[in-house]
Amino acid sequence: MGRIRILSDAVANKIAAGEVVERPASVVKELLENSLDAGAAYLRIEVEKGGRRLVRVTDDGAGMLRDDAMLAFERHATSKLSDVNDLFAIATLGFRGEALPSIAAVSRLLLETRSADETTGTRVEIAGGKLLRCDEAALARGTAITVRDLFFNVPARRKFLRSEQTELAHIASLATHYSLAHPGKSFELLHEGKSLLDVTPVESIRERVFQVFGSRTLSDLVELEPCETVLEAPAPGDAPGDAEVRRLRLIGFISQPQVHKLNRNSIYIFVNGRLIRDRLILHAISSAYHNVIPPACYPFALLFLECGFDEVDVNVHPSKTEVRFRHGSLVHDFVRDALRQELIASRPVSSLPPAAVARPASPRTPGALPAQAAAALPFSEFSQAIENHGFAEPVTEPPQTAAEPPPADEPEAIPDFTLRRPQAPAPRLDFGGASIPVSEPPAPTLKLKTPDTHGPLPPGLLPDETYSLNQLVHLRPLGQIHESFIVAAGRDGLWIVDQHVAHERILFEQVLRQQAAGRVERQQLLIPIVLELTAAQQVEYARIADELHASGFETEPFGHRAIAVKAAPAVAGAADLERLMFEILEIGESELRRLSMDDVRRAIAASIACRAAIKVNMRLDQAKMEWLLSALAKTECPMSCPHGRPIALRYATREILKGFLRI
Ligand code: ADP
Ligand code: MG
Repeated sequence: MGRIRILSDAVANKIAAGEVVERPASVVKELLENSLDAGAAYLRIEVEKGGRRLVRVTDDGAGMLRDDAMLAFERHATSKLSDVNDLFAIATLGFRGEALPSIAAVSRLLLETRSADETTGTRVEIAGGKLLRCDEAALARGTAITVRDLFFNVPARRKFLRSEQTELAHIASLATHYSLAHPGKSFELLHEGKSLLDVTPVESIRERVFQVFGSRTLSDLVELEPCETVLEAPAPGDAPGDAEVRRLRLIGFISQPQVHKLNRNSIYIFVNGRLIRDRLILHAISSAYHNVIPPACYPFALLFLECGFDEVDVNVHPSKTEVRFRHGSLVHDFVRDALRQELIASRPVSSLPPAAVARPASPRTPGALPAQAAAALPFSEFSQAIENHGFAEPVTEPPQTAAEPPPADEPEAIPDFTLRRPQAPAPRLDFGGASIPVSEPPAPTLKLKTPDTHGPLPPGLLPDETYSLNQLVHLRPLGQIHESFIVAAGRDGLWIVDQHVAHERILFEQVLRQQAAGRVERQQLLIPIVLELTAAQQVEYARIADELHASGFETEPFGHRAIAVKAAPAVAGAADLERLMFEILEIGESELRRLSMDDVRRAIAASIACRAAIKVNMRLDQAKMEWLLSALAKTECPMSCPHGRPIALRYATREILKGFLRI
């Protein structure tokens, strides 16, 4: 008796229907999800010509019984759902029974499979939806599905495919993401025989991140403390244990504030192991980074949310990439607050850009990259390709005509996407008896976990290389550069602090605190300032008048198109008040998205802080510099100014030692 059954019309009609096959990457996605649903521990993806000519996914999962192998190609044939109620708590990645028939309809497909319960396997061949063969075959347990000549019978679709590189980048991105979500499984991706990704099972996501991205990326990331919240308290009549499934758990990695991505393609969100694109969570991430990174920038984020299967509806989008949460706003706020807190707690600091560090010239040919940089190149190209293209986005662009991809037989047609295993780690800080003291105790809020809790760490990431802005309290100011940047000696290197943005951060948090307590210090103006407003500014004024009041401004309409400012926050000073007011009234226009009132309040605080902060080109005496650094150390978020620029750079002792060739 097989396991696959055809869904009844009643269930089939409730399924968000739609074309699941848009491009080679969608084939890979569906096949990978099937393999994962089948409990595979080993997944191998082979691709030729960016997936247009061939996609093959091989797994060591449960396999299919002989009868099922045929049935799997019927529409709405699935082993994963049986009645309508199952649709409200989907535990598997697939559930519609649509993928295999849809793929088989537009390609030449070969299925080879054997279940552990049968001694022989089955081979099924289908082209353009027509069954060509179905034979018994001696096969290993598991399943291999080969999809050749995608869209061979739908030329219109084939024309819409992008270049080989683009399609390959989408596939590589998908494979990478799924491998991140399943660190305990092996993933292999081969393009025309060349290995692009090859990861063996590891114990933690952290180790998988290291396998996939290497230590450079890992050191730019902060690991979230696992956190959870209760979505819904159990009702009085609920059975004990029910409360378990109403929890929401979050783990993952987010980037430090100095990482600025130009689009959202470096944000990966998984809900119950499913890769999704979700506006709600994307918004929560942006809110967490609001005032931490510049407005048009995005962080890198790798988030894994786990909740009860009935908490999230995955049946809202044809390609299952969008979901709907039952407790949407709770989920949003939970994610935002968890990320914000982690950013505040870890206080990561920017290093001086490596380019600023003099390196001995490479002994190789002139102009050649140093060996280290060359080794890193394939990955940066790879990640750039992914960043530029995103993943599994619908093919909406017209077919390329002018900029046709170069012919495939040119060797440079495919960029080197190889995900190398990280290079042998750099030697530890050890300079053969030199007497410079460098052994600092690790910072208390160490985010790179110690080996005992997270398995062996590569030695390049030893805790003594980590640091945080908590070190700010130990800084000793030495002087200023250009009367703009404070140079300070720290226990772990040389620091440079931008005096304007540092003060901006201090004032910003002070204003926020006063706003929250409803006690903003204000100054009455001797003569009210009258401002003429444009129509747009009047609308904005009406919208944010309460927030202005809460931030210490006393304003009132003055005639038709003007307002009178009678009092202002004490910190702002009277001189710049007019410009400050206009700047605030333009916040709504300059921000691309509509801001919530909370965001408006923060934006007002940021404007006040920016106008009131000490400027660059201003001489500071020793006492002022000391005050500034210690006040900065006390802020919640001393890593970046409210507009997202970094405040402090550190030239690590290690880099100094390297520069003097002592290590
Ligand atoms: P769905 O995944 O929505 O059930 P599919 O069309 O993707 O629908 O697959 C149909 C059925 O074929 C699945 O329910 C499953 O029983 C079987 N199947 C597909 N791929 C595999 C695989 N790699 N290993 C085992 N069974 C598979
Ligand atoms: Mg499926």
